[in-house]
Amino acid sequence: MPRNRPGTLRATQPLLNRPYGRDTPVPARIHGLSARTSLAVHRYEALSDDYYVFPGVTDRALRRYRAFLSPPGNRPRYPYLEECGCRGCSFEDVRHARDVLDEVLCHLPDRARAELGRLIASLDAVYLSRTLPDPFVDARRVWRPDVWWYRRLEGCRYARSGVT
Ligand SMILES: [Zn+2]
Repeated sequence: MPRNRPGTLRATQPLLNRPYGRDTPVPARIHGLSARTSLAVHRYEALSDDYYVFPGVTDRALRRYRAFLSPPGNRPRYPYLEECGCRGCSFEDVRHARDVLDEVLCHLPDRARAELGRLIASLDAVYLSRTLPDPFVDARRVWRPDVWWYRRLEGCRYARSGVT
């Protein structure tokens, strides 16, 4: 999540996270997940009052995570910080996408959690293989130093290579 998690903002925007009504079409199945798990995910997204969770956020987080890992070749990938803490821009930082996936995972019923968990684990393996450990992580001021996906070498957003 961004550095300044806007709790106050969250409180002032309750209408953005309205549950699906009867007239709301059933959302599309999430790529890589069963219809049943997709539904559980959509249900959580619709009911959550977390500012960073909104309908479609899991699909978006998965796409962002895949996109970050998808460039061909073996060159290391470097996550980078996004300064804007709004829930749209935050996805520039792939680690935010991973945060969101973690958040969703924690709120799913057992079967759905297991299925999404397997999907995330397969992406995590690629993330680990394509990023580098940051030996100075404890000296740096890292947003979430306790979380493993933040303990990887950061890049600069505007570097010519290695950053997407
Ligand atoms: Zn923004």
